[in-house]
Amino acid sequence: MRYISTRGQAPALNFEDVLLAGLATDGGLYVPENLPRFTQEEIASWAGLPYHELAFRVMRPFVTGSIPDADFKKILEETYGVFAHSAVAPLRQLNGNEWVLELFHGPTLAFKDFALQLLGRLLDYVLEKRGERVVIVGATSGDTGSAAIEGCKHCENVDIFILHPHNRVSEVQRRQMTTIFGENIHNIAIEGNFDDCQEMVKASFADQGFLKGTRLVAVNSINWARIMAQIVYYFHAALQLGGPARSVSFSVPTGNFGDIFAGYLARNMGLPINQLIVATNRNDILHRFMSGNQYVKETLHATLSPSMDIMVSSNFERLLFDLHGRNGAAIAGLMDSFKQGGGFSVEQERWTEARKLFDSLAVDDAQTCETIAEVYEQTGEVLDPHTAIGVKAARECRRSLDIPMVILGTAHPVKFPDAVEKAGVGKALELPAHLSDLFERDERCTVLPNDLKAVQAFVSQHGNRGKPL
Ligand SMILES: *Cc1c(COP(=O)(O)O)cnc(C)c1O
Repeated sequence: MRYISTRGQAPALNFEDVLLAGLATDGGLYVPENLPRFTQEEIASWAGLPYHELAFRVMRPFVTGSIPDADFKKILEETYGVFAHSAVAPLRQLNGNEWVLELFHGPTLAFKDFALQLLGRLLDYVLEKRGERVVIVGATSGDTGSAAIEGCKHCENVDIFILHPHNRVSEVQRRQMTTIFGENIHNIAIEGNFDDCQEMVKASFADQGFLKGTRLVAVNSINWARIMAQIVYYFHAALQLGGPARSVSFSVPTGNFGDIFAGYLARNMGLPINQLIVATNRNDILHRFMSGNQYVKETLHATLSPSMDIMVSSNFERLLFDLHGRNGAAIAGLMDSFKQGGGFSVEQERWTEARKLFDSLAVDDAQTCETIAEVYEQTGEVLDPHTAIGVKAARECRRSLDIPMVILGTAHPVKFPDAVEKAGVGKALELPAHLSDLFERDERCTVLPNDLKAVQAFVSQHGNRGKPL
């Protein structure tokens, strides 16, 4: 499989190189040159497979030529073997024909484990083969950091540095990062905000001299391998609800358009999906596009669903590329004008094309709490605020009651106790067994000033299993 850039100017790469690449050299994002397409018979024959076996069948075409089947199977069995639920991604019924796909049974209790558990293993496999080492420098406002650290903690060939804003992530989120020890794991608390952390990561990609030749790898959702891993659970859910003979709809809490883009790909690979609902919080750039064909940057608002607090959706460029007939020059032009003027709209027929599949809703904090309370009353289930946004959007935007509606349950509610408390849900939430002593564990973290040079000096001092690069 070859991968091409959404801006058309970077060289095509194979899977192995895409895994290590991050952004393309022309500033674009990598996408498969030709998407695999499965027949209905093929998809139907996968019913009842264990999750890792289904994962093998769905993802195999993407890694062909880079990872032999036997090795890939083994990696997938290990990856999904660490999930706490034997079904890996169980479906829970909320209402008639309405389901939550629970994606929070991984080590860090959010759906990001599906991709980052795999990414860590793939990186280590490829690096071992090449006899190389890499450094990961990532910024987090919460969920990504812990999932990336958990995914890389056993990697022999990866050193990981995660920057989080000092005193600005929740205690559960911080402890999920700082209580994991390893000579290749480094937590850095920056005396600044999330944007400061992200700026330092960007600046480090732009000028990598401090790494003395060691490669820097991205773990945010621009990394193709993350999107790839997320395609699988759309197939998994649909197969349990009568697919592919029957079509299914999904409502997806999203910020960066990563998770829902995977659903769009699943459909293009042959899975009958009737409707994809983009569920955002008050940071609603995607909803403004879907509802009014305006893709315009606005100020950032802090919400009760912090993992979707973004101003710009990086993966949206991948959808735009398809909407423009995969014309890289057109996307480069759009992105240029976005950078300069802060917004654009697309030709009417392209927007209409998108709206055949996508609907959207923006849900504010008050509605999020109302939905948590409503679902708790109806079912006794406590939703996390991100999932609640998905439920609200599903209930408002659903086109057909006859078609099963699956809401992606992106996090465990215990990660977001503030929202649950604000919703007036009195039920005490317990940490799952593997995290039950989280509040007693020792923590390891280095506080650094909001200063790029200080951070880069720290990385180069510790980037080789705790030793200097
Ligand atoms: C990261 C995250 C999201 C948003 O994911 P996208 O890739 O932006 O679609 C939603 N919910 C939770 C809990 C998350 O951690």
